[in-house]
This record gives sequence, structure tokens and C-alpha cells, in this order.
Amino acid sequence: MTSAWLGPLLRFFVPGGILWLGAVLAVQQGLNETLPPAVLHLAPYVVAGGGIILGWRFNRSKLVFALLALFTVDRLLAMPLGEGHATIIQAAGVLLPLNFAYYALMTERGFVTGRGLFRLVLFGLQPILCAGLFLWRPATLRGWLEAPLFKLPVTIPLPATDAMLCASSLGFLFILLLYVRRRSPMENAFLWGVASAFMALATTQTPAAVSLFLTFAGLLLIIGVIETAHTMAFRDELTGLPGRRALEEAMLKLGGRYAVAMVDIDFFKKFNDTYGHDIGDQVLRMVAGRLAQVGGGGKAFRYGGEEFTILFNGKNPEEAAPHLEQLRKTIETSGFSLRGGKRTRNGRKKRGTADNCRKVSVTVSMGVAGRPVARQAGPQQAIKAADKALYQAKKAGRNRVVKG
Ligand code: GH3
Ligand code: MG
Ligand code: MG
Repeated sequence: MTSAWLGPLLRFFVPGGILWLGAVLAVQQGLNETLPPAVLHLAPYVVAGGGIILGWRFNRSKLVFALLALFTVDRLLAMPLGEGHATIIQAAGVLLPLNFAYYALMTERGFVTGRGLFRLVLFGLQPILCAGLFLWRPATLRGWLEAPLFKLPVTIPLPATDAMLCASSLGFLFILLLYVRRRSPMENAFLWGVASAFMALATTQTPAAVSLFLTFAGLLLIIGVIETAHTMAFRDELTGLPGRRALEEAMLKLGGRYAVAMVDIDFFKKFNDTYGHDIGDQVLRMVAGRLAQVGGGGKAFRYGGEEFTILFNGKNPEEAAPHLEQLRKTIETSGFSLRGGKRTRNGRKKRGTADNCRKVSVTVSMGVAGRPVARQAGPQQAIKAADKALYQAKKAGRNRVVKG
């Protein structure tokens, strides 16, 4: 398997998939039976309470809604409702994955906005409508929930109804598509949250295990929000490269031998002035994409604006220079394709035709420096030296690598 596949695959399964699998195996082995009853009893309150406070502080209404939904189902199932118990499992098995799909899709709009209140009403109406139907027309509700929707050639050994299977698969697939598009930790958390809710509601479990899986789904969502916050703090949103904060941390971990390169796009201001800020942003993304592929164990960061930093841990500037030179050449030869403004009759942009696809040249200058000679001097001094070398590269005519 190539490393191009390994990274995304790891991000897909870690931590959500691994934790989910761990929970499934633990319940299968009966490990949950060994937990003290107080822990089982308190866990839903701790996860829902802590998560809702977190969601409110981080302004993540999707976390709050999802935790409220899980907590509602969990507490309803803990009540002595007799026949209602099976109906709650069936209704929740349909509604939870669909609600999760909606929460994964929705953009954050806070709680006290018109949209937020509408969502709250939509959320609250679901248990009320279900309870109303259950009391006044139980046969109709059961008819809907248990309707045979498809006939499979094999019998699935699950207590789940067709409607539950349909809703879970639809919800899972929809969120999977969202995840493939956005690759954010939150969609990943919702995905494994649906899988966890499925284990709780659509498979045979003891009441304690049902509660555990529902609580676990909440925990996965909380982890998703924390991961999102971490990504926002350490990753540069425009380019996807690690940002300044990540650079500061990486510099603290440098060993006794290293090289620091400062990279600056040549005449970038002209790009913005000629083609507009949006095209400027696209050029930044293109350059960042190339820098991310630097060889020799280098790691690229966005320093700020149109400046980037590359760290080589364990290499001196002489060893790093050929990799930087290679990078400079790649950027110079690849250029940036401008899609022209000509449009077809139906309004769509024509792509790739000779008259509307123009290549503009993009070049970068680099300055590289190693560990300073002075004993007390650290990587910050190396950055300053690399910056000086970069200035030399600019003065000497740009599009070159200069060693400091
Ligand atoms: P030089 O070759 O000397 O580096 O010239 P330059 O034009 O690249 O350098 P200068 O420092 O004059 O201009 C940098 C420009 O980068 C100015 C600023 O508008 C632009 N810029 C900084 N950050 C962004 C960004 O995030 N997006 C876009 N589109 N432009 C940015
Ligand atoms: Mg600059
Ligand atoms: Mg520049």
C-alpha cells in the first residue's frame, strides 16, 4: 500500500474506528459487566453534561443536538415503559442516523438565531410526535416502523427492522460522502457515532450494553469536536499545511543537526493585483501542495502570508539544499493554469481548451540556514539567518536557493 493511501486510511480509522472496534470487542467479551454499576449509571450524565457544556463553549450546536438526542433515547430506554420499549428502539433506530446525517451536514449557526431555534423545534417535535402516535394510534406507528421494505436473499441475524437498516445505511453512506469531500474530524466522528448507535439499537444487546453504546457514540462526538479545535489551531485553513503554532512546536523538537528554509513566492503581490485575491489564494494552495511533497524528510509549514518554512531535522543545509533546489525547479516548471473567463452557452466554464487555459509562471526564492554556531542560539536564530539568505536570493534576482 502506498503512503498516499495510508495517511487517509489511518485518519479514517483513528481514533473513531479503533475505539468503536474496541468497544464492540469489549462488550462481546462481557467486559462491560465488570464495570461498577455506579459508573454505568453516571456515564450518560457525565458524557451528555460535559459534552453539552463543551459544545456550548465551542459554539458547536451539532454536538449539543446529537448529545441531546442520544441522552433522550438512553433515558427513555431506562424507563419502565413496557411495550413502549421496543417502539422506542425502532423509532430511535430510524431517527438517530437520519438526525446525525443532518447534524453532520448543517453549518453552525448558534442556538439563539432563527435557524438555531427552528432546529431546536424540529428536534423536540420528533419525540413528541412519536409519543403522540404511540398513545393514540399505536397500530399505525408500529405499521410504519415494521413495514417490510425489501426482501433480501439471505436472512440477516439482527433484530433490526427494514426501516432501521435503511435509515442506518442511508445515514452512514451520506456522512461517508460528506467525509470524503470535507475530510474533517467531525464527519468522521458522526460516522462512527452512527455505527455505535447501530450497535446499541439494531443488534441484540443487554440494556446496560445499549446504554454503553449510546454513551460511547456521544464520547466519539466529543473527541471529534476536540480534534476539530486542534486542527483549527495547528493547521492553516487556506493551504492545509501546518501553521505557525505547529512550527513553533516542531522547532522545540529539533535535534542537534537541522536545516531551516524560508520560502517566499516571487512577485506575489503582482498576482493579486493582476488576477485578483481569489486567484492569489489558489496560487498559494498550489505552491503549498508542492512544498508538502518536499523530499529528504523535510516538513513544510505556512509561516504567514506568502511565506513558508521547511524544517529538515537531522540534515545540515548542504544536505537539504538539493531537495530545496528540486522543489524550486518543480514549482518553476509546473506553473499555474489560469482558467479563462470564456463560457459555454449554458454558462459553464470551458475547461482546458487552448484559447482559455493560460499558464502563468510562478517561482519561489529560498534561503536556508543550519544550527547557529553560538551555543545559546536556537532555531529562532536559524530562522533569522534563513530569512537573511532569502533576502540575498531576492536581491540576486529571485527564483533561486541561497545558503546562509
Ligand atoms: P517579492 O518577490 O519581493 O517577495 O515580492 P512580493 O510581491 O511577493 O512581496 P510583497 O511582500 O510585496 O507582497 C506579498 C503579498 O502577499 C501582499 C499580500 O497582499 C499578499 N498576501 C499575503 N497573504 C495572502 C493570502 O492569504 N492570500 C492572498 N491572495 N494574498 C496574500
Ligand atoms: Mg514576503
Ligand atoms: Mg513574495
